[in-house]
Amino acid sequence: MKDKVAIVTGGTRGIGRAIVLELARNGCNVAFNYAKSEELAKTLVTEVESLGVKALAKQADVVDFEAAKSMVAEVKEEFGQIDFLINNAGVTRDKLLALMKESDWDEVINTNLKSVYNFSKAIIMTMVKQKSGNILNITSVSGIAGVAGQTNYSASKAGVIGFTKALAKEVGKAKINVNAIACGFIETDMTASLPEEYKSKMIDMTSLKRFGNPEEIAKIAKFMLSEEAKYITGHVLTVDGGLAL
Ligand code: NAP
Repeated sequence: MKDKVAIVTGGTRGIGRAIVLELARNGCNVAFNYAKSEELAKTLVTEVESLGVKALAKQADVVDFEAAKSMVAEVKEEFGQIDFLINNAGVTRDKLLALMKESDWDEVINTNLKSVYNFSKAIIMTMVKQKSGNILNITSVSGIAGVAGQTNYSASKAGVIGFTKALAKEVGKAKINVNAIACGFIETDMTASLPEEYKSKMIDMTSLKRFGNPEEIAKIAKFMLSEEAKYITGHVLTVDGGLAL
């Protein structure tokens, strides 16, 4: 990965942050965006640069197509190329459908699914012209199995899976890989606020009897972006400790 360039959406916390650091540790220059966490972004830039690679942090809402286009243009200008896109940013607004407001639906669909269109669309012609590139989408087992209380989230993550397979078919001839990782329960801010009783139930349903951690996802992400995984495309790799068995 030495001298490659990656864009990671939602890089300041959780899985995105772990991916930023894992790629940087492997010699990759990394640009990432965030919504609010300016201080975390500054600290992460320092941490990435201390690993001997370049870093760029940008406050850019993934829902905003113009913001995605301008970030992609800035990264190209600054780093000269873009090899990897990791569509990671995501949110939950869990509620039973009967209680779900239209804003809960729109926020989750836009942040988790429209974002994937925004950044992939902004980047795809750069990769097609390079005749190389790798797009990795972070989805969820919720998009495969469906989870009660998550109609918005499950729909968004199932949408990401459909997007991944369709785009893989479109751009394979340009030597671009498009894959997804479907995570189970991972210890991040997203899962920290879940009720303890629910967490115990989920741990019990997980074959390995524990939540995963962001670094475990980051290592799989590194593999999926590596030369070793070059013949994998359109694939959804479940990394859930055996939750969805
Ligand atoms: P997290 O800890 O809550 O971090 C979310 C990241 O996304 C933060 O960096 C946040 O930036 C950024 N973000 C959120 N909305 C954004 C927006 N509108 N524009 C730009 N950035 C935005 O979440 P996580 O658990 O690491 O989740 C990462 C991905 O994994 C998500 O797609 C999630 O759905 C998926 N996933 C997670 C789990 C899990 O158990 N944790 C399971 C399955 C799938 P700020 O810091 O600025 O807010």
